[in-house]
Amino acid sequence: MATTETARAGRTLLKATALLERRKREALAVYRPQHHQEVVHRSVAKRILIRGGNQSGKTLNGAVRFAECCIGRRRFIDRPIKHGYKFLASSLDFTLMSDNIYKKLFEPGAFDVCAGCGQVRHVCESLKGCDGPWDDRTVEAPPLIPDRYLANGGTFRE
Ligand SMILES: [Zn+2]
Repeated sequence: MATTETARAGRTLLKATALLERRKREALAVYRPQHHQEVVHRSVAKRILIRGGNQSGKTLNGAVRFAECCIGRRRFIDRPIKHGYKFLASSLDFTLMSDNIYKKLFEPGAFDVCAGCGQVRHVCESLKGCDGPWDDRTVEAPPLIPDRYLANGGTFRE
């Protein structure tokens, strides 16, 4: 009897350990902002306007901030999250919104991570443990908002 309970406890521990390891590889867990993006993540301002040049990281910056507020956890500030955030995203047309914002939040590939160490590029390169060109050793990060946070098993309407 005790052996069965011990075996069951062992399986439960293995499942819990695997779950924790998977969550360590989730996009928000591995995301590290570039230096110029940190101000957005550390800000407690009521209103933030993110603007910048093409490919400067403003969409990802805003999407990460949005995702963190949605799941109720902001890693870069010590204050508790207040509910009732309002986000306003604008673009030249709605296609940009669905192509950019939706995909960054709910589909893999908001950013790339190293297939070797699982880190974003600037962290991987600072660790100096992975060899080869960056483009040859990357995989898409999972969605910023994992399915487990979505109602009804992960359905979301665009
Ligand atoms: Zn690496």
